[in-house]
Amino acid sequence: MTDQLEPMPGDWQRALAIVAHPDDLEYGCASAVAIWTDAGREVSYLIATRGEAGIDSLPPAESGPVREREERASAAVVGVHTVEFLGHADGVIEYGTALRKDLAAAIRRHRPELVITLNPDDTWGGTYWNTPDHRAVGRAVLDAAADAGNRWIFPDTEAEPWAGVRWVAVAGSDSPTHAVDVTDGLERGVRSLMEHRAYIEALTTEDPEAYARNLIEGFAREEARRFGGRPAVTFRLFNH
Ligand SMILES: [Zn+2]
Repeated sequence: MTDQLEPMPGDWQRALAIVAHPDDLEYGCASAVAIWTDAGREVSYLIATRGEAGIDSLPPAESGPVREREERASAAVVGVHTVEFLGHADGVIEYGTALRKDLAAAIRRHRPELVITLNPDDTWGGTYWNTPDHRAVGRAVLDAAADAGNRWIFPDTEAEPWAGVRWVAVAGSDSPTHAVDVTDGLERGVRSLMEHRAYIEALTTEDPEAYARNLIEGFAREEARRFGGRPAVTFRLFNH
């Protein structure tokens, strides 16, 4: 576990991060996004649901708009101003060609070189069962990155095929290969997670800032041992 990770590639201009829920990118990844947007790179978010099933005390019709607002505010903290929601049903996203087509269409529209998503594996660290939405969306993202470039797959999307995806980076993977030094992005990473205030307040009685800071700084410190002692956000990188 002391094997050192490679730095993420730097020769790209546009990234599209695709995840299931508002908040998925804020549990770590956003600190790396802050570093990228600081460097003048363009990062957009595509969220498959509105996270409307994420707050036990709030019915979906009320929760969806709240969570959408919180996600837009979170994104803005790390320099992301394009946030789109696909409106799939939270908690019951189905892996299949309909989802792959939605994602391929978005990749064709955004034309990213780097696509980012969240752990699609069965578990987190072997001890926590992953959610069906994360598994479905993560796998569909990895598939759709290739679908987007094939003109014969989903030929009726509005945008032209885009074969320019060079990498898919999976955040939160148990077997990361690459990392970003987030020394200068951590503070915004913390504030980005704190924007999910309604969600966090329903989740824990802990003070939202203490909750966000402990998690974000804790993750980054834990990964530092694999990245020369620098606080890091890690990814498993797939080449295209
Ligand atoms: Zn999630």
